[in-house]
Amino acid sequence: MTASAPITQDALTLPRKLPPEERTNLVGLTRPEMQAALIATGTPERQAKMRVGQIWQWIYTRGLRDFAAMTNLAKDYRAHLARHFVIAVPEVIRREVSLDGTRKYLLRIAGGHEVETVYIPEEDRGTLCISSQVGCTLTCSFCHTGTQRLVRNLTAGEIVGQLMVARDDLGEWPEPGQPRPEGRLVSNIVLMGMGEPLYNFEAVRDAMRIVMDHEGISLSRRRITLSTSGVVPEIARTAEEIGCLLAVSFHATTDAVRDRLVPINRKWNIATLLTALREYPRLSNSERITFEYVMLKGVNDSDEDARRLVRLIAGIPAKINLIPFNEWPGAPYERSDWGRIEAFADIIHKAGYASPIRTPRGEDIMAACGQLKSDTEKQRKSARRAALPAKGDTGNDRAAQAS
Ligand code: SAH
Ligand code: SF4
Repeated sequence: MTASAPITQDALTLPRKLPPEERTNLVGLTRPEMQAALIATGTPERQAKMRVGQIWQWIYTRGLRDFAAMTNLAKDYRAHLARHFVIAVPEVIRREVSLDGTRKYLLRIAGGHEVETVYIPEEDRGTLCISSQVGCTLTCSFCHTGTQRLVRNLTAGEIVGQLMVARDDLGEWPEPGQPRPEGRLVSNIVLMGMGEPLYNFEAVRDAMRIVMDHEGISLSRRRITLSTSGVVPEIARTAEEIGCLLAVSFHATTDAVRDRLVPINRKWNIATLLTALREYPRLSNSERITFEYVMLKGVNDSDEDARRLVRLIAGIPAKINLIPFNEWPGAPYERSDWGRIEAFADIIHKAGYASPIRTPRGEDIMAACGQLKSDTEKQRKSARRAALPAKGDTGNDRAAQAS
């Protein structure tokens, strides 16, 4: 690595340092965006691409947050960068570790909003479940996040930042001079946290491109799974512009039931969704699509449902992930009995599809699928409840304490 050439006098004599909130965050900028930002602040055009390469490595290979430590850049240039830019990730305001090792991070982002990110260690992998929005505009009736209105989309920086925060906590940035360790602690990403990723397409795409960049974090597109409730018009774009694996929150085998569980079905029904899904493996050059199916007692869990599901997905390379319903305060459903879930899985398995039953993880810290919701919102609600005259011990009160 070579020391950088001095930059122009104009750039160096730029006045005062901007306050941090006015400096541009480099985290979340794509390479072309970072290059344009460097040029706009005085980096000579002919040097900009190389500078991006150097800065990129510091941020995404080494996890650096301080320009002063970027030792292959001239001192003046480091100071210049610090005047205009920051390398910022969301602030961790709470970290909870479940009995099963699952870690839930409550993060504060600009505007004082909060999102949750969950790390799930398993024997052969470590999966980070990332949020794409604060809240969700959709209102799936079995989902806790769906009861929280949309506050805003996350930026690409806030999406990549969730991974960077987890790597900080897990100590996953290589030491100076050391090669990248063999195994990864965060080996997989699932976009299955709060929000509908395909309603925040550009930010999710840019964040995933940064995560996949070979000179940085370099996660393979086959280790990223995006879960959608079925935003049909964005499915082909996901294949073409991200190329990751796709999961779809299917959850029902008739439009009548799916309309109730996943209301976006009223816009794009099962037949329309399946047409888009049939195209996905070819467009993304990927293998199977994961069909997520939450098991709700007496609602979608009959043998007839299992047989209908098999008929519907015929011809699609698929895996069916059965998710025992995770309860949350006030939820209007119950988890199917274990025997029912197994009988359902058996029918699908006999039809030739993998049908793993997802073990709920991190339930004791409300980190399991569909349990995420900004804690401030929970706290605001419980504070409101606490302010009301006591009406006896309702289920909700107990649940509010549990969360
Ligand atoms: N919005 C996206 C991704 C986030 S939800 C989507 O809907 O696909 C991630 C998965 O958890 C989805 O399959 C969702 O349907 C499921 N889920 C939501 N609430 C759940 C609950 N209470 N129990 C089990 N799974 C749930
Ligand atoms: Fe939103 Fe997904 Fe929850 Fe539906 S299941 S409300 S799309 S987060």
